[in-house]
Amino acid sequence: MSAKRCEACGMPMTHQSQHGNGDADYPYCIYCTDSAGNLKPRSEIREGMIHYVMKSENCQRPQAEAEVDKQLNTLPAWQMTG
Ligand SMILES: [Zn+2]
Repeated sequence: MSAKRCEACGMPMTHQSQHGNGDADYPYCIYCTDSAGNLKPRSEIREGMIHYVMKSENCQRPQAEAEVDKQLNTLPAWQMTG
């Protein structure tokens, strides 16, 4: 059993309840999904991740922003063409 990762923030989802909509096939986690079941805007998810990194790594905002942007650029949800 391999954990899926949220395609918007990279969080491992090991349980169905961590998927948006409580749907194990849904590619985004509950933190990246709004109450209507839609993917939140990148800016909102980015902001949440920055706060998380600042807290968990005890670092300053510029460093957290750099790490978050780097991670976001690798995630399927934000692979835009054009
Ligand atoms: Zn997520």
